[in-house]
Amino acid sequence: MCGIFAYLNYNVNRERRYILQVLFNGLRRLEYRGYDSAGISIDDYFSVSRNPNTPQPSSINSLSSSPLVFRQEGNIESLVKSVYQEVAATELNLEESFTTHAGIAHTRWATHGVPAPRNSHPQTSGSGNDFLVVHNGVITNYEVLKETLVRHGFTFESETDTEVIPKLAKFVFDKANEEGDQTVAFNQVVLEVMRHLEGAYALIFKSRHYPNELIACKRGSPLLLGVKELNDDVCNGSAFHDAKFLSKNGNPKELFLSSDANAIIEHTKKVLVIEDGEVVHLKEGGVSILKFNNDKGRNGDSLSARPASVQRALSILEMEVEQINKGKYKHYMQKEIHEQPESLTTTMRGRLLRGGSCKAKTVLLGGLKDHLKTIRRSRRIVFIGCGTSYNAALAARPILEELSGVPVTMEIASDLLDRQGPIYREDTAVFVSQSGETADTLLALEYTLENGALCVGITNTVGSVIARNTHCGVHINAGCEIGVASTKSNSCDGHVSFGNWR
Ligand code: GLU
Repeated sequence: MCGIFAYLNYNVNRERRYILQVLFNGLRRLEYRGYDSAGISIDDYFSVSRNPNTPQPSSINSLSSSPLVFRQEGNIESLVKSVYQEVAATELNLEESFTTHAGIAHTRWATHGVPAPRNSHPQTSGSGNDFLVVHNGVITNYEVLKETLVRHGFTFESETDTEVIPKLAKFVFDKANEEGDQTVAFNQVVLEVMRHLEGAYALIFKSRHYPNELIACKRGSPLLLGVKELNDDVCNGSAFHDAKFLSKNGNPKELFLSSDANAIIEHTKKVLVIEDGEVVHLKEGGVSILKFNNDKGRNGDSLSARPASVQRALSILEMEVEQINKGKYKHYMQKEIHEQPESLTTTMRGRLLRGGSCKAKTVLLGGLKDHLKTIRRSRRIVFIGCGTSYNAALAARPILEELSGVPVTMEIASDLLDRQGPIYREDTAVFVSQSGETADTLLALEYTLENGALCVGITNTVGSVIARNTHCGVHINAGCEIGVASTKSNSCDGHVSFGNWR
């Protein structure tokens, strides 16, 4: 599970040095997800002298720019080192200030092609970096797309599946221009690209044809938008949550895109969880969203249907910056092990009740109460998860069977899918995933919903796909999703096995 991050400052001056720091810190926050290489892209304004003593025109942002790309295999610190070395060698001015600027960053966990600078992201459409893309996930039909693009004269420099995406964007853009559409919008280009992509992805696009704009879209892999308004009156006003306000607003602001909240929380708590099929366009201080709806289009799939404009409101992240720091610990795993007592207390807070006429102690997990009868009448309870989540559920099985009297079985999500194992309407399926976004678990959820079972989720992440797509479930409130230890400690505990999405 790699990470993507982007930072766009609008109507507020930020030096290149600061922009780099925000991007690097974003990557550091995503580091725990695992990766083998990293990269970033920022703007260069080659028509401006790099001598800091040369006065710069105030209209710096309107000058043509060529995005710079830095990629390195290994850890983020080796990327940081190589960027500053290159900056020094090319005399790139770190004090140069941008009123508006869009930067993107990526940590890669190689699926196609060895870890190497050429395979790291951003992947590019070719020399000139007309289109750049950072990608989480896998494009399953990349070979076919690659063959077609090669036939149209594109040459590939990486072994990644991702490289077809920026090249396809360039192909779509050039074609629109050849056909006389000089005004094709960035989101139209990306919508057309998405129509051709199969697989799972979260993507961020940057283009020299659309300076200071970014496009984010996703199918399967997680992606969040963070919004930080820099105008106090606005921040304190209630209008902030208004979707219309978000989509049309010229106030100075900073926008962040990230695979998870860890990289956003230190900047803002106001986020939008981007949904599958959405194309989020950051342009001129506004956020507009187009969504492929679920209706089938002319080719019988949702991607050939016409996308519609959607309005969304921001939500507030319920986590604190301290939760994502390692504190006095050397590793996140170590921190989570030591935090287990606190995590257990937090998980149980407000859920352990005492009182009533018989003074009985009981566990209340709110919203599941509407489904308890169904769960009790289930033919079996099937736990579905991957890795540590699976093991945590396995550890919870004895106590669940003992307390519920219902047989509990276990499924590794990918195995259930491979076998197309039997799931019945009379089953209760419990999906365990700390992030709430585990790819195989999500596919197993789709499969189980189709088979008509009651679907319960157990996750740490409010607003995650599992939280949204199950019938009911439990947020385990075990701090932020940094690693796996806290999931294990909490979901092993019988007290958190049933509850409400709250
Ligand atoms: N499949 C892409 C690659 O191998 C992205 C992998 C990732 O999610 O980091 O480059």
